Amino acid sequence: MVDASLKSRKRSRTFSRKASVSPPTSSRKHFLSDKVEHFTESVIREMTRQAMLHGAVNLAQGFPDFPAPLEIKQAARQAVAADLNQYAITWGAKNLRHAIARQMHAWQGITVDPEKEITVCCGSTEAMISTLLAVCNTGDEVVIFEPFYENYGPDSILSGARPRFVKLRPPKNSDEEWTFDEKELRRAFHPQTKAIILNTPNNPTGKVFARAELELIRDLCLEYDVLAITDEIYEHILYDGAKHISMASLEGMSDRTVTINGLSKTYSVTGWRVGWAVAPENISNAIRKVHDFLTVGAPAPLQEAGAAALALPAEYYAKLAEGYRVRRDHLMPVLNSAGFKCFRPRGAYYVMTEISAFGFDDDVSFARHLVQTVGVATVPGSSFYRDPRDGARQVRFAFCKKTETLDEAARRLHKLADTRK
Ligand code: PLP
Repeated sequence: MVDASLKSRKRSRTFSRKASVSPPTSSRKHFLSDKVEHFTESVIREMTRQAMLHGAVNLAQGFPDFPAPLEIKQAARQAVAADLNQYAITWGAKNLRHAIARQMHAWQGITVDPEKEITVCCGSTEAMISTLLAVCNTGDEVVIFEPFYENYGPDSILSGARPRFVKLRPPKNSDEEWTFDEKELRRAFHPQTKAIILNTPNNPTGKVFARAELELIRDLCLEYDVLAITDEIYEHILYDGAKHISMASLEGMSDRTVTINGLSKTYSVTGWRVGWAVAPENISNAIRKVHDFLTVGAPAPLQEAGAAALALPAEYYAKLAEGYRVRRDHLMPVLNSAGFKCFRPRGAYYVMTEISAFGFDDDVSFARHLVQTVGVATVPGSSFYRDPRDGARQVRFAFCKKTETLDEAARRLHKLADTRK
């Protein structure tokens, strides 16, 4: 913390000559970074604040409203009681890193050196920005599928890279898959492409990338010497027999993939802020340096609890996925009968919907009506696209909620009947 009086002393010395002509504080735009000018505050987090303000059911932000597993809460309590209160090793507590390596081997057959190839961060959010800061130079390009998890755009900008978007196209029939055009993807790869960010299972579409799609991306990464940064935070939340395949498990990709994951979604602890990046040693070294200066380390006792979480038996993951399948199948008929067209997710815990049946100009005015009048918070589709017009007929619902919460949302959504065209 900078001492306030020191700060004001320093400022008055720097600006003393101009003091009489300085514009009012609010207009001092030159104090701000150009980078920050290029993005806005998170719409998802903003919708959560709106939900609280209007007493709305929050189906906007992707956090569970039900308890985390007892075993891991006990492990967290024990870690605090054992006075694990000081900094963990910067790149992560040994127990957690070894548990991550064991899990990657068990689930994906990937061999990882826990001493050299894993960096534990404050959530996968920090793992992603640390990775991009570690690998990108100004002028590099990063390929991103859109609609995209909204952090990826600002993350690229903060790291000096230029995002290049490739469209995921919604299916005509809501039961089919979102797809991308191979030619469009190929056109996005250039000599200046540094990385592609891939999120599978995908937020917001629920798409689970198939092996053939991953192989196509792999071939382009090899052809253009590009790094794959894969956000696999929903790896265990899968439906209808969908299988998650880690990019790093594909032949030729182990030395050019950064795999990002975390505790938040798999163990229903989004507030614990523990995530990680798994990468080859040279890239891990760079990520560790950035991470060290950004945050020093993730919460030490919660890393120990994380090691206990990763040791949960296979049945835990089967139950987790089944619980979310039940919630998905509970919410989708409600949305369909309220007038939404739903795109059936194969993974993650969101339903992307089409809102053309309602008489609203765009997604933002619709979402505002929903939160303020109907009492249900959603995320306007435009926040997942570079060009807001592409998401102007969509909103996203999160179903990581208790049955009672989904039932209350269903009750309120009846009010929407008045607005149907
Ligand atoms: N990645 C994706 C695709 C997400 O949807 C989210 C949260 O909604 C995150 C990352 C954030 O994860 P964490 O809590 O580990 O920072």
